[in-house]
Formats: sequence, structure tokens, C-alpha cells
Amino acid sequence: MSMQPSGELAAAIRAGDRRALARAVTLVESTRPDHREAAERLVEELLPVTGGATRLGISGPPGAGKSTFIERFGLDGLKRGHGLAVLAVDPASKRGGGAILGDKTRMTELSRAPGAFIRPSPADATMGGVARRTRETILLCEAAGFDTVIVETVGAGQSETTVAEMVDMFVLILPPAAGDELQGLKRGIIELADLVLINKADGELLEHANRAAADYANALHLIRPRVPGWGVPVRAVSALTGSGVDVVWDDVARFRAVLEASGDWARRRAEQARAALWTEIGDSLQARFRDAPQVAARLGDIEGEVMAGARTPADGARELLRLFLG
Ligand code: GDP
Repeated sequence: MSMQPSGELAAAIRAGDRRALARAVTLVESTRPDHREAAERLVEELLPVTGGATRLGISGPPGAGKSTFIERFGLDGLKRGHGLAVLAVDPASKRGGGAILGDKTRMTELSRAPGAFIRPSPADATMGGVARRTRETILLCEAAGFDTVIVETVGAGQSETTVAEMVDMFVLILPPAAGDELQGLKRGIIELADLVLINKADGELLEHANRAAADYANALHLIRPRVPGWGVPVRAVSALTGSGVDVVWDDVARFRAVLEASGDWARRRAEQARAALWTEIGDSLQARFRDAPQVAARLGDIEGEVMAGARTPADGARELLRLFLG
């Protein structure tokens, strides 16, 4: 990648230049130290014009219909005049290192729309890497003027919690089945949801979807609301026919209004920033730790001893920390 002065690139992004945005995201995704430095400079420079978008997380088990929903929801949003960026969070470790199948065919119509920017996850990303590049990419998209940024989890499990931590509103998309039949949905994830959509409410599945929606609504009534003044809506929708999809935009607007009025919006943003700070601290410390020669020299042995049950993890960690801190 040729390096462009960050001032020029920043100006192009602010002007809404898609190719500049795509280049900047590539920079943010790179792990090369000089790219990393340039990316950080760029994000710093753009920081004053970030924060304007509604950051939506969309999660749910594989096959629930997330990409079908985002395509429909996105096209509805464009009609409403929204500018939409879609980022995928998909750590390679969660799909055995291969490329996402069908990435090129996902969201075909939306990806061709001039008002939308779609960015799949880089192929070699780890969860930590994905989290940082997603946080920074959100900021870049905001600087480019998008009013809605969707972060979609493609993998299952750990990525859901990570995404819930970096967005304003967390939307869960579920297939039309009862909770105890759900495969691949982490326990507790439902409690993170600000909105639950039971998808595939069409054809033969319509009744199932309506019943599942009623069940979830009942179950959610028993949980203490995560956000005061916001009862988590549960809706049966069909991403395929579009039924119930467009009104989700009204839910998003209502949610934002409720949280802004109570001050929770700003508090969530502050919490997002704090969580990001601690993630960065943790990641950087771990990287420095692993790279320290005196640690590297003993790490394999101590790991082996702990794995064999010959040593407690606490004792192993103590020795390594002592070596690290010299
Ligand atoms: P994802 O893995 O959550 O992104 O799910 P996809 O969007 O790839 O959808 C998985 C499958 O469910 C595909 O075959 C879709 O055509 C189908 N599907 C998605 N939404 C609906 C829907 O609303 N109704 C029906 N009947 N099928 C759907």
C-alpha cells in the first residue's frame, strides 16, 4: 500500500470519498508497524468529527438470517435517507481459518447501492485484532458521514459479547424456534439485547415465529431491564418478504431518543471508550509480555508444566511476571 499523507487522506474521507475510506480501513487492518502508526495518526486526526452515527450491533446464530435481514433493512434505510456502513466481525479462528463462503454474494443489492459501504472482516483476523480494527473503522465511517454503522457478527460465541461492548444498540436475530432448541447461541446473550427479532415469520414458519416471539417477550419481562425506560421489544419479522423490517428503523430512533433523554446514551458511549481503553491496555501488555526475551525463554516450559498439572497457573504466572518485571 502506498502511503499518503494522513492529512490528505483525512480530508478525502471527510469529503465522503469511498475509495479513500476503503484505503483507510485497509490501513487500520494492517499489522505492519508503520501502517499502525499511520492509522493511529489518521484516527486521531478524524476523532473530532466522529461519534455522530448510531452504532448498531446485529448478532444471532448462523443461519438465523442476519445477512438477509441487513440487506433488507439497509435498503429500507437508504429509502429513508440514511447512509449506512456495514462491518462484519468474523474472527478467522471461528471458521477454521478459511475465507467466508459467499461473502461476494451476501448483500448483493446493498453492496451495489451508492449510499452503503460494506466491509467484510479481514481473513486473518484474531478476536483482539478484529475488535480494534472494528472500533477504528466505526470512527472512520462516522468521519465519512454515515449516520448508521452496523456491526454484524458472523461467527458465534465470543464475538457477540465483544460487539455488544462497542455498539449503542444490540439487536439479536433469532430463528423461529423456542429458546431451548437454539443451537450456537451463548447463554446470557439474550440479556444483552436491546431488541429481539424472530426472523422467518413467513409461510409455514409464521406460526412458529409468532409463538417464539410471545415466549421470548414473556421471558424478557422477567429480566430486569438493562436500560431504564426501555422495555426490550420482541418482533416477528421476515427478512425474506420484508414484513416488519422497516419499522425496526422506528425502534432504533425511539431507542436513541429514550437513551438521549435519560443521559444513558452519553454514559454508554463513555463506557464503550473505557472498555476500549482497557482492551488496548490488556492487548498491549500481553504483546509486550510475550515478546520480552526473558519471558519467551521460559514461557514454553512453564506452559507445559501448567498443562501437565505439575504446577498451578498462579505459580506459573508469578514466575513469568517476575521475569517480565525484571
Ligand atoms: P445468517 O447466517 O444469519 O447471515 O443467515 P442468512 O441471511 O445467510 O440466511 C440463512 C438462510 O435463511 C438462507 O437460506 C436465507 O434465504 C434464509 N432466510 C433468511 N431470512 C429468511 C426469512 O425471513 N424467511 C425465510 N423463510 N427464510 C429466510
